[in-house]
Amino acid sequence: MQAEADNVIVNVENHDVSYLKARSAVVGEKRFWRYVNGAGKKPRRNEEKMNWEKNVRVTEPYVAGEQPKGGGVIKLNTNECPYPPAPGVRAVLEQMQQNYEKLRLYPDMHAEKLVNALAAYYQVRPSQIFVGVGSDDVLAMSFMTFFNGEKPVLFPDITYSFYDVWADVFRIPYRTCPLDENFRLRKEDYLQPNGGIVIPNPNAPTGVLEEIGVLEEIVATNPGSVVIIDEAYVDFGGESILPLVEKYENLMVVQTFSKSRAMAGVRIGFAIACEKVINYLKDVKFSFNSYTMNLPSIEMGTAAVLDDGYFRETVGKIIRTREWTKKEFTRLGFVFTDSKSNFLFATHPKVPAGELFAALKENNILVRHWNKPGIENYLRITIGTDDEMSRLVSFLENYLKEREND
Ligand code: PMP
Repeated sequence: MQAEADNVIVNVENHDVSYLKARSAVVGEKRFWRYVNGAGKKPRRNEEKMNWEKNVRVTEPYVAGEQPKGGGVIKLNTNECPYPPAPGVRAVLEQMQQNYEKLRLYPDMHAEKLVNALAAYYQVRPSQIFVGVGSDDVLAMSFMTFFNGEKPVLFPDITYSFYDVWADVFRIPYRTCPLDENFRLRKEDYLQPNGGIVIPNPNAPTGVLEEIGVLEEIVATNPGSVVIIDEAYVDFGGESILPLVEKYENLMVVQTFSKSRAMAGVRIGFAIACEKVINYLKDVKFSFNSYTMNLPSIEMGTAAVLDDGYFRETVGKIIRTREWTKKEFTRLGFVFTDSKSNFLFATHPKVPAGELFAALKENNILVRHWNKPGIENYLRITIGTDDEMSRLVSFLENYLKEREND
């Protein structure tokens, strides 16, 4: 394969894809080339008939944080919980080992056990809950279900970088709304005509928590759109908008088991809204794949919800470590948002974030850095254990000192 910069002719062995526009993306260490229909030279008629690639849904996938294969790494790059899931989750796994023959059967497609546990915990009706394979699955299904208008879907310009990927893959028009200089959203932006709204609260990767009053105003002034509030990080000190689903038919709240419930590897997410919204979502999901939730995840998820004590204890530890890390970061001269999530979003006025990212990586400390305008000088650092965070702080302290002496 031969390829040059953007917008160029590409030859892939014997296939003539010269009329496709080449776009590249770096995934991990590799650079992938993809071909976007419609750009460059127009295909001749017979080429059109012959070439199957014109019928491909071409899209640029989301790039997740690195999952290193080896050990010995302080992994602060994907906002996982540094503590294990609730002990009941382990007990489920042990029971599953005894009863593994159950896996021969399809799971309960309504995941009733998990849904009932969530309904009791959040004090809503089971019919108001939708569960999926991580909140990514719930959000993707929601984009497909609710964002079918002609007007653009709105979300912040600095936010979870999966939103524009879903919009692209489902061919949903969207418009990003710039955050202000303090990474806060400007509510007026969400009063323009739109086909839907999605806002994470706290926002990612900034950790900034928005006031419920501001979000309520956005929901209330947009009765013609479904407003999704993505509360992936709300358990770490935010106020949930959940009570307002009783008041607003167009409000949907999405949460995950991946962060505060320490179960990123199990893949459970859920949405809570009025029954009408949930039924539309279920109709699309059941037109797609009935059995998204597997038996072990239904059982493990239920066990996690039932152990509220462990949940609170884990979240409490992470909040305490976060606040300790903030103090240390201030001492080291970092500037950061007042994150209410399980990560910090920090910049150092004297050292470029790219340099720090590379130095940390070289020393087996993984954090996240985006080369995106507006945040290119920030690092997103997941809160790990006390020990991990003190090793991070020591490393940074030494690095900054040595750099100053150079
Ligand atoms: N929303 C936000 C804002 C996130 O940061 C993440 C984690 N990458 C998710 C949703 C998805 O999490 P999961 O699919 O693991 O539930």
